[in-house]
Amino acid sequence: MSQISIAYETGLAFAEKMDANDPLKDYRYQFHIPKDKNGEDWLYFTGNSLGLQPKITQQYIQQELDDWANLGVEGHFEARNPWMPYHEFLTESMAKVVGAKPIEVVVMNTLTTNLHLLMVSFYRPAKIKHKILIESDAFPSDRYAVESQLRFHGFDPEDSLIEWKPRAGEELLHLEDLEAILEKQGNEIALLLIGGVNYYTGQYFDLKRIAELGHEKGCMVGIDLAHGAGNIVPDLHRSGVDFAAWCTYKYLNSGPGSLAGLFVHERHAHAKDIPRFAGWWNHNATTRFNMRQPFDVMAGAEGWQLSNPPILSMAAIRASLDLFNEVGMEALRKKSVKLTGYFEFLIHQIDTDRIKIITPANPEERGCQLSIQVKNADKSLHKKLHNAHVITDWREPDVIRCAPVPFYNSFSDVYKMVEILKALLNE
Ligand SMILES: *Cc1c(COP(=O)(O)O)cnc(C)c1O
Repeated sequence: MSQISIAYETGLAFAEKMDANDPLKDYRYQFHIPKDKNGEDWLYFTGNSLGLQPKITQQYIQQELDDWANLGVEGHFEARNPWMPYHEFLTESMAKVVGAKPIEVVVMNTLTTNLHLLMVSFYRPAKIKHKILIESDAFPSDRYAVESQLRFHGFDPEDSLIEWKPRAGEELLHLEDLEAILEKQGNEIALLLIGGVNYYTGQYFDLKRIAELGHEKGCMVGIDLAHGAGNIVPDLHRSGVDFAAWCTYKYLNSGPGSLAGLFVHERHAHAKDIPRFAGWWNHNATTRFNMRQPFDVMAGAEGWQLSNPPILSMAAIRASLDLFNEVGMEALRKKSVKLTGYFEFLIHQIDTDRIKIITPANPEERGCQLSIQVKNADKSLHKKLHNAHVITDWREPDVIRCAPVPFYNSFSDVYKMVEILKALLNE
């Protein structure tokens, strides 16, 4: 993406002008914005944790409830959107969101479960080449998943888990440091599992470069895209990574605990001999209901499914993906770069040395989130923001994570949020 340089200005009038000129400004009204007791909209900056509910979601779920009520088991074939192939209705839109081919993507299970199933296939440790590399600040669930995989295969995470760490006194990671680790220990590393956009710093890595570096040393490369899907344009197919997984309740607005996405690169799509776990849902769909056939694995990402999926969750994902399809990731990302750039500009205007943005300043190395470190702050700051109807995410010891989401956050939201933060810091 080319850099967008805009001369941002202080003052509410500028925010209002940006909103007036925003081609996506009306999408805000397609979401339920939580309100306070007086009916005033919250300033919601936690779409990176739980995305807001599209107003159409209810009707998509209601339709499946109605079809279930009216059709019972016949709904598998007779529902307006038959449940048997229901997951297929999501594939194309989901593939578009992450820049994949339809054969590479399926919606199933939840994120950590998918990471485990993918490691069953793509973490195949040998005696020497058995280690796993993660970011030192990986999301806890990913770390636990990887440590348990190591133990499951008889290795000790103490020796076999390698961390890609920030340099002393820094928060962000350098690709050169990853390269150096691989140069030195690549022959011992079986798998790289990296958060495509780090949940804590908001740093967005060059996935293509990571894939190249890993593949040069014969490592498998997997990406956790929880903070990337629906936020940045990851171009998964072209990046060349072997696999990826992401949840749909963050930027993909599909509801708490909703199903996750899974990507397996096309180069593995027809490799039926890849070790994997099996269930009836990754068996050849045309003979699935003969029930007595020997297992015949499906091609592509569908070949990792196990169970028939929960339709009510898929209906929520479908509603959200229909909105993504309508707008397109390019338009969302374009607004996002402006919105976050504006947020950054306003934060820099606050006259204090207590604030430091730890997220990269380069728009190509971040999504919409800014992680703001506030010196000598404690959780009471988060509480005060909350009391002022600003919903953010607090990370110990002193970081506020804020995600202006292009679908439903406005430039005025950002302006108001920074005014409130400024007042609290000047107290
Ligand atoms: C949100 C998130 C998770 C959550 O995992 P679930 O299995 O959906 O509970 C895991 N990893 C990362 C990087 C996340 O951001």
